[in-house]
Amino acid sequence: MVSPAPARAGDEIGSIDTPALIVDLDALDFNIDAMAKHVRVSNMMLRPHAKTHKSVEIARRQFAAGAIGLCCQKVSEAEALLPSGVSDMLVSNHIVGAAKLDKLAELARKVRITTLTSDTAHVTELADAARRNGVIFEILIELDAGDARMGLGDESQLLPLAEAIAASPHLKLRGLQVYNGPFQHLRPQTERAAAAKEAGQRALCARIVLESAGLPCDLISGGGTGTYAEDTSVGAFTELQPGSYVFMDGDYARNFSADGSSYRPFRQSLFVLTRVLRAAAPDVVYVDAGVKALNLDSGMPTLHERPDLVFTKASDEQGRIETLPGGKTPALGELLHIVPSHCDPTVNQFDWMVAVRGGRVTDVWPVDARGCVL
Ligand code: PLP
Ligand code: MN
Repeated sequence: MVSPAPARAGDEIGSIDTPALIVDLDALDFNIDAMAKHVRVSNMMLRPHAKTHKSVEIARRQFAAGAIGLCCQKVSEAEALLPSGVSDMLVSNHIVGAAKLDKLAELARKVRITTLTSDTAHVTELADAARRNGVIFEILIELDAGDARMGLGDESQLLPLAEAIAASPHLKLRGLQVYNGPFQHLRPQTERAAAAKEAGQRALCARIVLESAGLPCDLISGGGTGTYAEDTSVGAFTELQPGSYVFMDGDYARNFSADGSSYRPFRQSLFVLTRVLRAAAPDVVYVDAGVKALNLDSGMPTLHERPDLVFTKASDEQGRIETLPGGKTPALGELLHIVPSHCDPTVNQFDWMVAVRGGRVTDVWPVDARGCVL
């Protein structure tokens, strides 16, 4: 069941029901434009990752700024975002199992679908699914970028894998993906730059192996919000797939830029609006956003423009906020803007996104792919 919308267009911020997911449109527009411009002047393509926003509206804004398509992590997420008008989708995951592959084939009848593999047994499964559904799956080989998670780490297996893909009339090899989540969040810029360079080098070496064998490698996709500037300068990627840049979050703000300042190439556009439920002590309040409205895998959230307040604890439905010495404890009913520590899973907690500009609600957008885990 979808919950009722927490606001209507034209409402003032003060009348939004809480907890609510808020998107500041000035900051969102700035972020969408800034990334699009950076990628364009680098002569690369932008394929934003939609796992972050799960939103048809935001995808449309990314297309208007020049994005060539989307990445999705889940087949059901890709399906939910078709109304954005997307025509070129990279399902940047390993899709396994007949049920899911048949759904991927259904998508491939509607839009261009590319997906990943790093294993010859999986190639057989992909080819069987494409054959039985009468479609062609376009394929990128995923390389391990250093986190030993999903990508191919053993270079000696690259050519046999690529040849197996190329040998199937139901598959079409396009190139490579290399993405490493953890190195987006290495704090010093020098460490993120070194990791991005290493990932780029792996992709360049792999491209030489493929092209020397007469195999195609026209597309190399990867990169994220923490290394996008470095990713454009390593000379390996043909397209970038950043996601979090549209919103940013508390964890990305804990990265450092090259000059040692906090990493702020993009503006914070995403907030969870929360209301004070109880002033429990002169320096302690409880608010209506807890574990079910936030995501805490990257630590506690922070309070926007309130360095005097610390979010110290969350239970299912409530959060505890403490006032630092000299700070001002919020009053009963007061609204606070929480900066989520990790944007993607926080968005997935909400059915609605309240778009705000100049202190007023302009739109209430559904989180179209909310809960699309299949
Ligand atoms: N590409 C893949 C495969 C991802 O898993 C993710 C995020 O987890 C991204 C791109 C986007 O990365 P970021 O949100 O750091 O920009
Ligand atoms: Mn994330």
